[in-house]
Amino acid sequence: MRVPEEFEELSPSEFFWRHKDLAGFTNPMRAIYGTIRELVENSLDAAEVHEIPLKLHLKVTRLEEEQKGEEGRQETLHLHIEDNAGGISREKIPNAFGRVLVSSKYRLRQSRGLFGLGGKMALIYGQSMTHEPFTIRSSVGKRNPIVEYTMMVDIEKNTPRILKRRRLQNPGGWRGTVIDLTTRGDWAHAKQKVVEYLTNTAIAAPYASIFFEDPDGAQYRFEPVTTDMPKPPTETRPHPSGLDVESLKRLATATKTTNLPTFLCRQFQRIGPVTAKKLLQFAGMHPRKDPHKLTREELIQLTNSMNSFTDFKAPEASCLSPVGAKQLEAGMRKQLKPAFVTTLARKPSSYSGFPFIVEAGVAYGGEIQPNTSGKIPIIRFANKIPLLLDEGSDVVRKVVDAVN
Ligand code: ADP
Ligand code: MG
Repeated sequence: MRVPEEFEELSPSEFFWRHKDLAGFTNPMRAIYGTIRELVENSLDAAEVHEIPLKLHLKVTRLEEEQKGEEGRQETLHLHIEDNAGGISREKIPNAFGRVLVSSKYRLRQSRGLFGLGGKMALIYGQSMTHEPFTIRSSVGKRNPIVEYTMMVDIEKNTPRILKRRRLQNPGGWRGTVIDLTTRGDWAHAKQKVVEYLTNTAIAAPYASIFFEDPDGAQYRFEPVTTDMPKPPTETRPHPSGLDVESLKRLATATKTTNLPTFLCRQFQRIGPVTAKKLLQFAGMHPRKDPHKLTREELIQLTNSMNSFTDFKAPEASCLSPVGAKQLEAGMRKQLKPAFVTTLARKPSSYSGFPFIVEAGVAYGGEIQPNTSGKIPIIRFANKIPLLLDEGSDVVRKVVDAVN
């Protein structure tokens, strides 16, 4: 007799714990590198959104000597990371660190974090490898107390499990976040990547002061060379050209107006009364329609028309927060100490309703070591995040290789 199949539902934590590789935790080297990256990026995001020149202290300590198992080299490590950025209000801490897919960044504005996953993935990974809790200490400053949570994540349920909660006096008005966690990884192989990552981060964030202590006692200091912060991004409304039917339907359901042109002007960037009129003519739709009453066919028709209408202005770039040509030059001068450097920030362009800005710099001479491989070294960034892995498949590598 056939036994019926059993069906289960996975919580988001459970899913990412089972598929760690999707978050980049593919092996012990990438695990510790990814852990550091995610936590540093959260500090950078918090610093930039609040325009606070970042002071970051990162310390990695070895708890248990190296073991060689099936996974290769592994050691138990303690990570301490402290920043002076915005801090997190006390009631938000448990979910921000204990519930996967919770984020303050699900908005149309640039940030390094996008998914509500990275920091939590680092914590879940550490917890699942060591079964140790982690500690989050934070304050939003001024007269607010410092709150410290000792927590674990209930991976099956995707909920925070608070083991201990303490309130500490904050007479000095300290503001920031401190995370302590125990994890495992291949430090010997990750070390060089971590140093390279921090060096490149210092190029794209020349306002940051970063102090890093590694498990062997080596210390790395990245001093700020400017107090100018990148202009923080502003949240924007969606541009009509990248839209899908589901998004249009949600906006049309939620809107307060019963007038289609007003709806278009209010919900989208780059649509004013004149464009709205032209668009509706183009879509063959009556302007006096109530957006709430659009049928399925009409929603599809309007979406298709918005995607193919060519008279919209390019998307607003104010939701972006580029490094800036001047800052990039300062960062390159500081970290590379070249004889010559020049940088350029292009005008915004867009793809499928999303704006982007290309920024680039070239440096040579000075303390830059002549390279022996015959290839021009490239330092790549996406979304201001240094990219250290998989350079071979990057179009930038191909373009640079094609240059004589
Ligand atoms: P994401 O960065 O994609 O939002 P994370 O799990 O890395 O997801 O972080 C969850 C949330 O926790 C962030 O959206 C942010 O609001 C908050 N957070 C994390 N680290 C910090 C920090 N160092 N300072 C302030 N807020 C932080
Ligand atoms: Mg993050």
